Amino acid sequence: MAKRDYYEILGVHRNASETEVKKAYRRLALKYHPDKNPSGDKWSEEKFKEATEAYEVLRDPEKRSHYDRFGHGGERFEGFRETGFGYGAGFGDVVENIFGDFFGGTTNRRTRDQRGADLRYNLEISFEEAALGIETKIRVPRMEKCASCHGSGAKNGTSEISCPSCGGSGYVKFQQGFFSISKPCSSCKGEGRIIKDYCPSCNGAGRIRKERTLAVKIPPGVENGTRLKLSGEGESGNRGGPPGDLFVVISVREHPIFTREGNNIVCEIPISFTQSALGADIEVPTLTGKARMKIPAGTQTNQAFRLKGKGITDIHGFSIGDELVKVIVETPTKLNTRQKELLEEFARISGEDVNPMGKSFFEKVKNLFG
Ligand SMILES: [Zn+2]
Ligand SMILES: [Zn+2]
Repeated sequence: MAKRDYYEILGVHRNASETEVKKAYRRLALKYHPDKNPSGDKWSEEKFKEATEAYEVLRDPEKRSHYDRFGHGGERFEGFRETGFGYGAGFGDVVENIFGDFFGGTTNRRTRDQRGADLRYNLEISFEEAALGIETKIRVPRMEKCASCHGSGAKNGTSEISCPSCGGSGYVKFQQGFFSISKPCSSCKGEGRIIKDYCPSCNGAGRIRKERTLAVKIPPGVENGTRLKLSGEGESGNRGGPPGDLFVVISVREHPIFTREGNNIVCEIPISFTQSALGADIEVPTLTGKARMKIPAGTQTNQAFRLKGKGITDIHGFSIGDELVKVIVETPTKLNTRQKELLEEFARISGEDVNPMGKSFFEKVKNLFG
């Protein structure tokens, strides 16, 4: 489940002041607080928890600005792998309306001033791009303000006129017995004004579907599922409403040799058994190219060595991880006669010391059975 936007949860505008945030939370808390509701009312309890979580973030200027930049960072969307597409995938698939139905679903009587829908874009990037950051371009189809009518929906040069059915009030009144009942005017949908001549470019909608190329800066350290927010890059608002936001959800491709553990990267390097016994100077891959590393004499298989600072930069830019090189000692399989002779001689010279671990093991066995 996608997590709901904190501003939406509190029902405040993105530029809301601290006082407004506090007020909004107070209002919700009074409504949904467990003490105010019958026990076992799971729905209110969830609402209360959700509002409290949102408030905890938005009350704190530092957390709030981080949230504004990254949204619910590191969050994973269910079913993400199946729907993740890279650049150039079918646009109908990559962009979906994630929050559009939320406030829109409450059938606002007035359609003007409505905030545009938030959009989601699934972006697949490589392991290195996630680790080092990348600047890329994405193509986003979205509803934009119609340039011909500047979003009004009325034909250029004309403007909306007062609705003749309701006289501009947006309501029609009728008498029913003793009562005078008023209801929203159906001709103007309660807006009080109607468009006489529709804009031919947008047919009166005030918005037009456009494919827009946007530059996106992916900071180093993003993870699979990290959500980056591009404020105001969602769909344009309905007739003068503010635009929604665009959320870029990152999907990181697996790397053939590196894996990620926090901000460290791990890689396994095979070495020969003579290198492990005698020590060696080997070449290892890093995120930024090759590096040389010393393997000390007597290295065991699975032993890990740390290349300081060769890992991934923390997404907040505070620290950098290391590369952990795990050494796998390979036992030779196809020995020629000469190699066999040498190894047998080696074993003879070493006596039992050739296998100290095995020695103690066999001693234990001997003690056990006498
Ligand atoms: Zn137009
Ligand atoms: Zn009307």
